[in-house]
Amino acid sequence: MKQYDVIIIGSGLGGLECGYILARKGYSVCVLEQNRQIGGCLQTFRRGDAVFDTGFHYVGGLDEGQFLHRLFRYFDLLDLPWHRLDERGFAEIIFHGKSYFLASGHRRFADTLAESFPHQRGRLENYAAFLKQVGDNISHSFQPGDKHAFSAESLFSRSAWLFLQETVSDPLLRQVLSGASLTMELCPEKLPLYVFAQINNSFIQSAWRLRGGGALITERLAEGIRRMGGTVLTDAKVTRLLTKGNAVQAVAYNRGEQLRSRYVISDAHPAHTLSLLDEQAAARSAYRNRINHLPNTYGMFTVHLQLKRNTVPYLNRTVYIYKEEDVWNYYRYRPQAKTTAALLHFQPPPPGETCAGNMDILTPVHWEEVVSWCDTTVGHRGEAYNRFKEQKAEECIALAAEKIPALKQCIEKIYTSTPLTYRDYTGTWNGSAYGIQKDYTHAMLTVLPPQTPVANLFLTGQNLNLHGVLGVSITAFFTCAKITGMENLVKELKVES
Ligand SMILES: Cc1cc2nc3c(=O)[nH]c(=O)nc-3n(C[C@H](O)[C@H](O)[C@H](O)COP(=O)(O)OP(=O)(O)OC[C@H]3O[C@@H](n4cnc5c(N)ncnc54)[C@H](O)[C@@H]3O)c2cc1C
Repeated sequence: MKQYDVIIIGSGLGGLECGYILARKGYSVCVLEQNRQIGGCLQTFRRGDAVFDTGFHYVGGLDEGQFLHRLFRYFDLLDLPWHRLDERGFAEIIFHGKSYFLASGHRRFADTLAESFPHQRGRLENYAAFLKQVGDNISHSFQPGDKHAFSAESLFSRSAWLFLQETVSDPLLRQVLSGASLTMELCPEKLPLYVFAQINNSFIQSAWRLRGGGALITERLAEGIRRMGGTVLTDAKVTRLLTKGNAVQAVAYNRGEQLRSRYVISDAHPAHTLSLLDEQAAARSAYRNRINHLPNTYGMFTVHLQLKRNTVPYLNRTVYIYKEEDVWNYYRYRPQAKTTAALLHFQPPPPGETCAGNMDILTPVHWEEVVSWCDTTVGHRGEAYNRFKEQKAEECIALAAEKIPALKQCIEKIYTSTPLTYRDYTGTWNGSAYGIQKDYTHAMLTVLPPQTPVANLFLTGQNLNLHGVLGVSITAFFTCAKITGMENLVKELKVES
């Protein structure tokens, strides 16, 4: 039986980054991916000339000196075709037909919004300064036990919603400041300040799209792993973890092929990971119960539009459109509710072209809305499902027409995806966009450490700590540190202490 130092379940961003870090440290690694394509949520798909992303639109903090820049330098991802979003407004938030712009740079961010909210200038400056401090202290996460006021440990136990109430007195401005967080599931009773502040801060620092799509990131990581002697296998679904005592001895995949490994890292959802353990005793039942009952964030309905040539000018910002008063209300499942919020994303066109070839419209969808088709497979979900998708797509396009009035006439082809599509193509739990929901009232229970009760089994990916490209990349280091020790990695990353 072939033996590796580390087997990694799943080739999402987290799995590949762990593979890259450990291969760089000289470990023999093997990444097993169940799908034909690597990348999990960062997969892309092509229709004609158009490349569509599944779960990636923009990243923040990629400018020199910012944290993602440091991480991506380590992963050799800086020379990909990154495309900076408009610094005067990387995001446009539209409430009841009026636009508000979120600008890059903390000072400009406050100044720009103060033009619409002059009476809140001081509060905006305080808000921006607070977020900046949270971001500046991000490297403290690499020093476990650090109790700094701006550290993850402190801010995971504070409410994002309460922070906004305390910091900003104008209710509309609070909505605008929350407007770029639609995919995050803004829940007043749960969302930790750390998640809200860290992600929003990274976008205020600088915001970037990737011309060509998120798959460029995962292909580059896989290339790096292979170059350093590692293995990345696709069509390799892990079916069992064979344990002896309190350790995984071997990993079984597909029809029973087995590989031995000293360590196993899982980038799959923690509940799925535990279901792979063959010996119930290997993970305490209290731990299993806890993980299995943790709620997940809502999913996304995405309308992928292939546009007629030269019809829709490319917008170098992300547009958010809201028809309701409170963006902190979408976390509630409201049966048959109409679509009243949308994110508009434009894939950067080739250099020199000024019109968008394709765009995506995203809106939140709860699992309950698609659960009646959960036992079906892609292409065989039935007429009622097709009608549901058509209606939702129409609502999304009508909402987007607020920004692009002639949109309907500019569409060449429409493709849609629901949380079921995400579940079946990216392997996310019930199609949840960001995985396990973090809860500031239960921070210790919902922010998971990489270590499991099984001695040599570790977790990684967006379900643990912070979601998104930034969060997953940080967590990959926490996971690998369980095997290599943190000091070593920190030195290579050049995180100042
Ligand atoms: C609609 C949407 C939009 C988003 N937009 C952004 C954005 O603009 N910016 C941003 O930073 N983030 C965004 N995100 C979030 C970001 O995509 C994720 O946080 C990140 O890609 C998650 O990576 P991961 O490694 O944790 O997991 P995943 O990408 O979920 O990867 C897990 C992998 O494990 C594999 N797997 C599972 N079980 C098995 C098994 N038994 N055997 C083998 N393989 C298995 C899966 O097939 C999958 O490839 C978005 C997400 C969604 C859904």
